[in-house]
Amino acid sequence: MSSVGKVWLVGAGPGDPGLLTRKGREVLAKADVILYDRLVSPGILLGARPGVLWIDAGKTPRGKRMEQGQIHQILVKYAKKGLRVVRCKGGDPFVFGRGGEEAEALWRAKIPFEVVSGVTAGIAVPAYAGIPVTHRGVSTELSFRIGSRAEGSVHGKTLVGYMTVEGLAHFLQAAREKGFSDRTPAAIIQNGTTPFQRVVTGTVKNLAVLAKKAQIRPPAVVVVGDVVGLRKSLQWWEKGKLAGKRIVLTGSEALGQGWREALEEHGAEVWEIPMSTIEAIPPQLSWRARIRRANWVVFTSAAAVRLFPAILGDWRLMGACKFAAVGKINAKVLASIGIQADWIGRGPGSRELAEGWPKWASGRVLHLSGNAGDNSFVQRLRKRGIQAQRLVVYRNIANRSFHPPVQEALRREGADWVVFASGSAAIRFRKVMPKGFPTPQVVAIGPATARTARSVGWRVKSIATEPSAQGVLRAILKAG
Ligand code: SAH
Repeated sequence: MSSVGKVWLVGAGPGDPGLLTRKGREVLAKADVILYDRLVSPGILLGARPGVLWIDAGKTPRGKRMEQGQIHQILVKYAKKGLRVVRCKGGDPFVFGRGGEEAEALWRAKIPFEVVSGVTAGIAVPAYAGIPVTHRGVSTELSFRIGSRAEGSVHGKTLVGYMTVEGLAHFLQAAREKGFSDRTPAAIIQNGTTPFQRVVTGTVKNLAVLAKKAQIRPPAVVVVGDVVGLRKSLQWWEKGKLAGKRIVLTGSEALGQGWREALEEHGAEVWEIPMSTIEAIPPQLSWRARIRRANWVVFTSAAAVRLFPAILGDWRLMGACKFAAVGKINAKVLASIGIQADWIGRGPGSRELAEGWPKWASGRVLHLSGNAGDNSFVQRLRKRGIQAQRLVVYRNIANRSFHPPVQEALRREGADWVVFASGSAAIRFRKVMPKGFPTPQVVAIGPATARTARSVGWRVKSIATEPSAQGVLRAILKAG
């Protein structure tokens, strides 16, 4: 049997597709199977990839209403095939959406799952009608309640408290007055949904003491009710290997996408602070002629690859030209625009690409690059008797500053790691770094970046050998 897949219970929000979360969108775009129902807006489902298996959870193939048990069976069945299954629900999956029952079924079947919370109708729908559900001086309490009660449900209630760390004992006393007993389960959750989440559970009677002992601090939310007991089986939010770590990614857009997600998946908090912006140079007609004359087009950055289709304008101009990529990752980006590399450098950089240029790769070489860096790739090839030229297709513009609130947060709280993908990023970040920022540990990608970073005073703790998120992850874990 193939390895087990995973199920995501995704809240799609109340209707406006813009209210789908970023995580919801990412998960939806990668799904193999999607179970949806009527309440989910088509505008959201359009984000799925072609070829996904669609299952209408509202009705069976024979046109009858699908039973909840059938939905559970379908989720389990496809996850067991090793697929990525998304259960997409209106609003939030855990608010009157039976998402809790689905999660329990997955837990019983030992299928891993995640909850991707959504914006619940009870808050957003009034807001879009100009009604704030709480208002200073007008309302201090908000209840959600079902009009028509679903079969099998009971009278149980849930009380959720905001701003309750200081006044926890008082809040629990109020819960008693509302009819919750001393034995009712209760939990307090600090820094929820972040890599710094902490949860203390107890009862209405002892939670205040337990929370104090655990030194729970604001911001925190309190939950009182029997639902707290479900946590024993539904505790899906795991602390990843990077839990509690803040990582600053200084990579430019040239690095490519997916880095943040890959590190977040392991529980890190990731702040992307790019040190440069890629600005395309408007393509000139003469470029096309130069590209046409080349026997080899060489890429050493993701940015040049991404700009290539627009520069070329028409794929038929390419004829029998061959393509080389600086490394495996670059070759993947090249494949994403529909070109299989004829030669892939053994890495890590353009120097290795030039030195390892194969004898059989004869003819005129054209290197598409940015304005940063020098002519060294072309010069190395020329030394070996190869006709080579460089064509600068984008400008790499240094970012001289970044958002003041992010600077402030860095000064206040620091970061555990800073990742540099190039020497210029290390130099630039040194310049724009807020004063008084406690110096973090550095992961440098490749030895050349490490050398430059050290020369401007960074503490390089680890060197990634591969220019990918996985490479950075390995470097961080190795450093401990
Ligand atoms: N899980 C959902 C609720 C599902 S119950 C959530 O968190 O929002 C379905 C009910 O949600 C509907 O009967 C209706 O009362 C409410 N609802 C959902 N979307 C709505 C919308 N766009 N406008 C008004 N009510 C909505």
